[in-house]
Amino acid sequence: RFERSDAFVFFGATGDLARKMIFPSLLMMVRDGQLDVPVVGVASSGWTIDDLKQRARESVGKSADKHPEAFERLLGLLRYVDGDYRDASTFGALKEALGGAARPTHYLAIPPALFGTVIEGLAAAGLNRDARVVVEKPFGRDLESAVELDAIISSAFPAESVFRIDHFLGKEEIMNLLYFRFANALVEPVWNRDRIASVQITVAEDFGVQGRGSFYESAGALRDVVENHMFQVVALLAMEAPAYQGYKAVHDAKVAVFKAMRPLTKDDVVRGQFEGYRDESGVAPDSDVETFAALRLWIDSWRWAGVPWYLRTGKHLPTKAAEVVVEFKRPPQQLFDDALDGSERANYLRFRLSPVPEIALAARVKTPGEEFRGSQRELSVVSNQTNERPAYARLLSDALRGDPSLFTQEESIEAAWRVVDDVLDDHSPAIPYARGTWGPAEADALIAPHTTWMNPTTDQGDHA
Ligand code: NAP
Repeated sequence: RFERSDAFVFFGATGDLARKMIFPSLLMMVRDGQLDVPVVGVASSGWTIDDLKQRARESVGKSADKHPEAFERLLGLLRYVDGDYRDASTFGALKEALGGAARPTHYLAIPPALFGTVIEGLAAAGLNRDARVVVEKPFGRDLESAVELDAIISSAFPAESVFRIDHFLGKEEIMNLLYFRFANALVEPVWNRDRIASVQITVAEDFGVQGRGSFYESAGALRDVVENHMFQVVALLAMEAPAYQGYKAVHDAKVAVFKAMRPLTKDDVVRGQFEGYRDESGVAPDSDVETFAALRLWIDSWRWAGVPWYLRTGKHLPTKAAEVVVEFKRPPQQLFDDALDGSERANYLRFRLSPVPEIALAARVKTPGEEFRGSQRELSVVSNQTNERPAYARLLSDALRGDPSLFTQEESIEAAWRVVDDVLDDHSPAIPYARGTWGPAEADALIAPHTTWMNPTTDQGDHA
């Protein structure tokens, strides 16, 4: 269906993302027969091809020994062009390195300030012709800059050649949200404001900025996690069934969710900052950047009217985990002897997204005995299939094939920015919280009118 690219140009091959994520993904793609075209690294470290091969080896670690034949093939595909992106001769050298390749995919794993420079350089050298471009987040830092970035990208590449990566969308457990909802007919009748009381989503990290303080200073939790990854999860949970077959229908249904999200106000958001953040290198001593955000979101649609969505994410929280809890309404009457004083949570459906994917339905079950009393028990399915392939392997091989299904589109990006735009530049001080806690108490107060946060624990979900 899609035309394959005949070269993969890797801007930023010497960078952090390349080392952490991309080389291991390229190895998996070679192993699985999805990458057999030249991979041309372009950066300005003054490296040689041998340095790049050395980096690839360090980056994949033990996987090189596990898949020796694939790793040798990957090394054989690597090329390297050294040069500054601000320099036209870099693109001349790239053209030469590409040889006869006529349909390259350009992957931009570079600082966002250079997106425009590289895109203009590619266009000036004619390297945008019949080519695709894969862009890393952030797609702007607010609505205005997102629109500007799109203008630059679309001046050189038609919309169908632009692939914007949100790596969450390449994760199996995220794709399963869509699958679970629409492959099970039992879900739809309860998936609405009549049956659902609230939805909460937690994306927790138990580490800090990991030396990327100066990057984080220009981001913060709302920009780094909420507006993109978490909103994508909301969209998959909240969307209508795709109205027709094909990826476009899924995009359209998701865009409708972003458009129905009520723009956030200050009162909907709690911003926190872990104690010690200001001492990190690259961080301003008076920084008000949030390393934690909790928010209440409303989706003004027929299906979701009146159902609050609570989202929270943060660094230096007690655990690293991501989880969705969909809480159902309580029975209209209490027929049994249970002391339901409201302290127990209502039935819920829990999607543990990481570290170990799990789906659990909490339902009340009678306790043996003469009385009609019970307790809430989780009926749980844990996925014990380990998936060695990183999300990036899936996404980059889709881009090389030209399959846009798992990429975000500009319309969604702009609609999502519109939701957060008014609260992005809130410069009131972020509320301090101790490392290893679930953030400031104000986050508990935010959710209190409807429910309480359910804290993912690492033992939950690790059982077979
Ligand atoms: P990085 O470590 O700073 O790497 C930047 C890369 O760009 C390096 O390869 C660098 O090459 C190259 N570069 C920078 N300026 C250049 C110039 N003028 N001429 C030629 N090459 C130049 O950045 P990163 O952390 O990998 O991030 C890259 C992109 O991925 C960003 O858009 C970021 O937002 C996104 N991202 C990163 C992560 C992550 O965990 N790191 C996660 C998600 C998304 P030299 O050093 O060789 O000059």
